[in-house]
Formats: sequence, structure tokens, C-alpha cells
Amino acid sequence: MLGKQHVSITLATIFPFLIPALFYTNGDYLIIFGSIIAASVVGSLTPDADCSAKSKLYYDFKFVYDIMLPLQKSVVWIFDRLNLKHKLNLEYEVKHEHRGIMHAPIGILISSIVLTFIAFLVTLILFAESVLIVSLVVFIGLLVGQFLHLMEDSCTVAGINWNFPFGTKELKGRIYTFEKFEGKKDIRPVIYEYSLWSISIVLFFGYAFDKIILPIFIVNSLILLGVVLVWLFIIFTARTNYDFWYQDIEKIKKVKKAARNIGK
Ligand SMILES: [Zn+2]
Repeated sequence: MLGKQHVSITLATIFPFLIPALFYTNGDYLIIFGSIIAASVVGSLTPDADCSAKSKLYYDFKFVYDIMLPLQKSVVWIFDRLNLKHKLNLEYEVKHEHRGIMHAPIGILISSIVLTFIAFLVTLILFAESVLIVSLVVFIGLLVGQFLHLMEDSCTVAGINWNFPFGTKELKGRIYTFEKFEGKKDIRPVIYEYSLWSISIVLFFGYAFDKIILPIFIVNSLILLGVVLVWLFIIFTARTNYDFWYQDIEKIKKVKKAARNIGK
């Protein structure tokens, strides 16, 4: 999946849970909200440190990749040092390859710990008093961002080996990130983005116009239900192969242009 799609789908999954709190709390929690959003954006891009074909985001957020590259090297280094290959009788060798250790649960755990430590040092210098809570929030954001990245990549034809490097538990879908046939594009990632963002839009207007008067725990349960349902839809449809998913690139351009004209 493309870098921008990772960022968008990840943020659209997290945002609905933040909106009620944004309307209920005052400015005190801005650092917390900022940290969780920044950490999940970084997390949503981190696993692709081992990717050779870097997306446009590489140029937009170069600092993320500047941290990621030594991070990937250090995760591989930690694996070599621990001599896990012999102790655990690994099926796979941990190498510097795409969808290797950075695209596995153990890799995202190690990289989240390393990045949180960097964030801890930075926070300690900038806002000394809230260092523990910010570090905790950053850790959760990084972990959730990276976990969602693995979920998103599990929908593509390349898939994810969730047991890497301890065994094989491959999950894959039928989404082609790049063109499958000449002139056609898989529209599913865009449909997934819009489906998830629509939850935030409904919530935002619901709160802005005082239409949501349910107790917060009911609202949160409904948000959880909505997000889970959209994700079930994503997991299910990513494994299908209907012609409808592959649309003409020219036709997509026309629809986009028409939508832009309506907006004007
Ligand atoms: Zn990836």
C-alpha cells in the first residue's frame, strides 16, 4: 500500500476515538492529542523502512525515514546479536529485506520501544513534567500505527507473515498497490479511506451541532462498533476479486474532476 494510504487509513481509524474527547476537554490535553496523532503517523510509516521503492512521503517527511533507516539496521543488529536463530530455531533468516523483520509483530514492538526512548529524551528536554504520560501515549501511538500498517499490508497480494521470523502465518488479500492491468487501478484503498473517515465526519458534525447527547461510554461503544464493522468490511472485501474493484484510470480522473467542479 502507498505511504499516504497508510497514513490516511491509520488516522481515520484512530480519529473517531479522539473526537468526543476533543469536544469535552479543554486545552490541557493538547500535548496528549498531538503526541498520539504524531506517533501514529510515524508508526504508520515506520515498517516501510525496509522498503526500497519509497513513496512520495519519503520526500515530504524525510525525517521519519532518516530515523527509520538506522532503526531498521539496529533491529536487525539486535536479532543478530541475540543469536536468536539458534536459540529459537528460526525458520527465516532476519535480513535487510522488504517485509522482513520491520513487517512483523516482534519488529514493531522493538522499533516502538526504540522510538519511544528517543521521544522520551526529547520530551524530557522540552516539557519535563509530562514526560511519563507523553512517553506512554507515544508508545501506544507507535504500536497502534505500526499494527494498523501490518493490517493494511495484509490486504495486499504481497501480504504479511505474522509469525516472522518464528514461523509461517501468512495473511494476504488481492489488492495490487500498483497497476494490475494496463490502465486500471484498484479502487479499494480509496473506498476504505472514505468509509473510515465518514465516521469522523458524522461525529464531528454531531458534536459541533449538539446532536450527540448520549452518555460518553455509549458513544465510545458505538464508535468501536462502527470502526470494527468497517475493518471487517475491509478484511472481507480485500480477499475478493470482483471486476468492479479495478477501474479505468481515465474514468477515475473524470470522476475526480467532476467532484472538484461540484466543490467549486
Ligand atoms: Zn509496508
